[in-house]
Amino acid sequence: MYSTSQIRELIKDGRVDKFYNDRYWRKFSKSVIAEQHYECQICKCKGKVTRANILHHVKHLKQFPQLAYSRYYYDDNGERHRQLIALCHDCHEAQHPERRWQERADTFVNEERW
Ligand SMILES: [Zn+2]
Ligand SMILES: [Zn+2]
Repeated sequence: MYSTSQIRELIKDGRVDKFYNDRYWRKFSKSVIAEQHYECQICKCKGKVTRANILHHVKHLKQFPQLAYSRYYYDDNGERHRQLIALCHDCHEAQHPERRWQERADTFVNEERW
């Protein structure tokens, strides 16, 4: 399990993969996905049943490392929301447009190099 300051360091070093590969996160995320009955929560809202395989941080980890292991967060009005939601692969991709952009940027860099 990583502390908030350790997660900040990982983000700074571009090693967030270490957080996701950590044994504590793997065990913890599996149990939260089980609590949500292995159902993709976005597909569920649309009336579809899809098996979830990823636990997503609603408040993205990179901006809110202090919420890394929180099931809930509170908004400015003190209302409680889910911070961790089980998602299928497609819904998760849709939640991270910034990452797709990053992948394209990486590809671009590689192409430049060659
Ligand atoms: Zn889905
Ligand atoms: Zn995510």
